[in-house]
Amino acid sequence: MRRNATDYERTLIFCDAAVRRLRAHRHPALPRNYELWYTYATGYNAALNRAINEALERSPTITEDELDSLYETYLSPLRLSDRVDHVGSRILDEIVQVAGILKDARGNTIDYVQKLESISERARRMGSAGGPLEALAQSLLAATNATVSKTVELERRLGEAQDEMQELHHALELVRVESLTDPLTGLANRKFLESTLDRALKDAADGRPFSVLVIDIDHFKTFNDTFGHLTGDQVLRLVALSLKQNVKTQDLAARFGGEEFAIVLGDADVNSAIAVAERVRRAVMTKDLVKRSTGEHLGRVTVSVGVATWRSGDTGQTVIDRADRCLYAAKRNGRNLVVAETDALARNDDVANIRIIA
Ligand code: GH3
Ligand code: MG
Ligand code: MG
Repeated sequence: MRRNATDYERTLIFCDAAVRRLRAHRHPALPRNYELWYTYATGYNAALNRAINEALERSPTITEDELDSLYETYLSPLRLSDRVDHVGSRILDEIVQVAGILKDARGNTIDYVQKLESISERARRMGSAGGPLEALAQSLLAATNATVSKTVELERRLGEAQDEMQELHHALELVRVESLTDPLTGLANRKFLESTLDRALKDAADGRPFSVLVIDIDHFKTFNDTFGHLTGDQVLRLVALSLKQNVKTQDLAARFGGEEFAIVLGDADVNSAIAVAERVRRAVMTKDLVKRSTGEHLGRVTVSVGVATWRSGDTGQTVIDRADRCLYAAKRNGRNLVVAETDALARNDDVANIRIIA
């Protein structure tokens, strides 16, 4: 799109204002922080500006956490794609409705054509062939037939618009899936995990408690240092595959951070969660790692797993925190181990000060 000079100047003014804000609040000049302050400078997103102004009234500086939460609430691409999707659905509904109305209109017009044809025929039979009555009926017929053709053409174009909208929907769906997927492993990403936990919390409140596994590869730093980061990446994929293969389709396996994973098991008590955790642990440890390019044997990797089950009053974070403490207990007790909250190991371990590594 070509912009005129004034538009161009304006973008620079917004840019300067955004950079000034980044400096004033000492926010790192990351694209999303810049985007947030740039959008604030434009004033295009009234809700965002209101929220920032309110935050500024509370305190002259906005923390990075506040900034993150503002971004998630007002600018996250996910929200945007949700909104576009919503608008897209409404347009599609409208098109379907208009197409229906047009079809009815064509039906009525065709009825009308038939009536005109029979009038014209009757006029001919009554001996007024070529007379004014037949001429009138014929000209009405011609006009009505033209209307039918136009309606058919309109219907065709609406059909095309409908197809395009379906394609857009599909493209948007792909974008959404992409934005929720970890590119290295193809598992769900942290964002997807968080939204799944939100849903699981609602189900738990309705009587279907869930469990969470937090899984961390043992001594992965050593593995990376020995065989290189790229080979490490392949192992991350392999572990991800073991996770995927050991959960049901309604459960969610996610990459939580670098070499940490999480699984949300819907409607699962602690015992069935431990069973899944054990399956995953065994699946990983029994894989013999061979470097495809050289045939070199790399040994095996193992994982430690922490298991926590929903309790009344939990948030997603508190369940994850508890699973993480169990994971820490598993690490302290030798690794390649599953520890659940119900295990003596979890109770004996001094985990009071352990915090989740985000
Ligand atoms: P522990 O058994 O206590 O978990 O030991 P660890 O070495 O696995 O844990 P630590 O937290 O010390 O190191 C994690 C390592 O994971 C550091 C880094 O080399 C590796 N890592 C994190 N993200 C990635 C990634 O995306 N690719 C690769 N190849 N390695 C990663
Ligand atoms: Mg780790
Ligand atoms: Mg590790």
